[in-house]
Amino acid sequence: MYRTHTCGDLRLENVDQIITLSGWVQKARSLGAMTFIDLRDRYGITQVVVEEGSADLVKEAAAALGREYVITVSGKVVERQSKNSKIATGDIEIIATDITILSKSDTPPFTIEENSDGGDELRMKYRYLDLRRPPLKRNMILRHKMAQAVRNYLDSQNFLEIETPYLIKSTPEGARDFIVPSRMNTGEFYALPQSPQTFKQLLMVSGYDRYFQIVRCFRDEDLRADRQPEFTQIDCEMAFVEREDVLSTFEGMIKSMFKTIMGVEIDYQFPRMSWQDAMAYYGNDKPDIRFEMKINDVTDVVKGSDFPIFDSAEYIGAIAAEGCAAYTRKQIDALTAFVKRPQVGATGMVYVKCEAGGQYKSSVDKFYSAEQLADLAAKCGAKEGDLILLLCGDRKKTLSALSALRLEMGDILGLRDNSKFAPLWVVDFPLLEWDEETERFYAMHHPFTSPVKEDLELFSTDPGKVRADAYDFILNGTEVGGGSIRIHEAELQERMFEVLGFTPEQAQEQFGFIINAFKFGAPPHGGIAFGFDRFCSLFGGTETIRDYIAFPKNNSGRDVMIDSPSPVVEEQLKELGISLR
Ligand code: ASP
Repeated sequence: MYRTHTCGDLRLENVDQIITLSGWVQKARSLGAMTFIDLRDRYGITQVVVEEGSADLVKEAAAALGREYVITVSGKVVERQSKNSKIATGDIEIIATDITILSKSDTPPFTIEENSDGGDELRMKYRYLDLRRPPLKRNMILRHKMAQAVRNYLDSQNFLEIETPYLIKSTPEGARDFIVPSRMNTGEFYALPQSPQTFKQLLMVSGYDRYFQIVRCFRDEDLRADRQPEFTQIDCEMAFVEREDVLSTFEGMIKSMFKTIMGVEIDYQFPRMSWQDAMAYYGNDKPDIRFEMKINDVTDVVKGSDFPIFDSAEYIGAIAAEGCAAYTRKQIDALTAFVKRPQVGATGMVYVKCEAGGQYKSSVDKFYSAEQLADLAAKCGAKEGDLILLLCGDRKKTLSALSALRLEMGDILGLRDNSKFAPLWVVDFPLLEWDEETERFYAMHHPFTSPVKEDLELFSTDPGKVRADAYDFILNGTEVGGGSIRIHEAELQERMFEVLGFTPEQAQEQFGFIINAFKFGAPPHGGIAFGFDRFCSLFGGTETIRDYIAFPKNNSGRDVMIDSPSPVVEEQLKELGISLR
């Protein structure tokens, strides 16, 4: 028998029991004639003692132990003299009467403890060792629990978990597909799904009115910050629903996850914000509403006072940072340098300090009277002691820079506390996005998203103005989920493809299966998908999704552990009818 207990089980009430444990040697150290072994498994660490008077065989085994050896230990549970309150088993130790080495270990390339001395790449290469460390173990457990919570909730709401294929058809919309050559159909290719979108809609046509799947999706994108080429979605679809039905169902799911996983009860309805407001007041479509500091359009207030930079700007926006009027030259310079970074893209920054007694001090004093600055402060909701920061230029770019500045100030002022949660629905996205380069519309969400009913008329006259019946779920400034009510009428779907620049033949060729399916009785339907890896990282309180994926890729899309991607042998290519250029 390998074990009677795990390394996390034993307590004072087990004292005097004869037990057997198996696990990895975290540490073995000799103190005089005694040896102390920290034995680790998934459940914890237990201290094992080999005493001076132990049998020779036991002493020999103990002397031979190295880090990460796998052993089985039998012995007696005793109360510890010097207790260790840091570990759950810290009140007891095991006096070993038998030690069997099950497997030896090379010296591990980094320390396998709470904090490791190994660098990122090294730990990725030996991911199976890194996974032994408590932080990653906690992440894997959290991920499992979250998946369980999702399944429990959705099952309780009558959802069916249905799998959809991984080898599908390549379509030009959206991100780049990963493609897979077909041996049996030489010269033809499958694509790995970017999401099960069309299949879940077909399932609605099939009458499975509540579907979900915790499913892998594949997108061949450049790996900007914290993306993985394969990632997991909680993918869902419902029939006979309107937007409200979808939002309230999934608000229920999120609340139940907060409750079961975090012990947090959210007893209010998640706020809703239109995309227009999100862009105008937060400068992006995923506002972090853990703090206020809204962006104010102050163009009318400050334009026309002979300050040339403002006078020539399309838009001037400002935020008011509470209690920052005493910022030093150095602090202001640091903020100016921040907004001038290429990723932020502003050319400069103007500040106004709201000082005691209604005094204002600004970098553009000579252009503005105290009265004008008071108007500006009023417009920004700034009070005595606050610091107003202004950026100007092209509206879109300036809003985006203000958004970055707002988040930076939020960080500086400690307003983005990871133990606080601020959920939000952003709704009413534009349906279409005009692309200057290709001179055509693209679907902002995807081509199956329905316009909001009131905007249907505009579809023929001014498509750019049509709002989508789409929604995103935002948590602490991160987009965690997104979805929409779908088009379920074949004619409207055909019209949509037309607006997107498809000829009827192209639409048939790419999406014929779904257009045709809609001709056989498609119920009104809608759905949503959540980024499961990201959801886990937010609950876990860290930034990187990689920490929540057992075997992730690095930033260049490589798995450095199995060394993939890698070349294949000529024979394989030949079978596929492929020759490399
Ligand atoms: N399939 C969509 C996505 O992956 C989500 C949805 O509309 O349900 O973004």
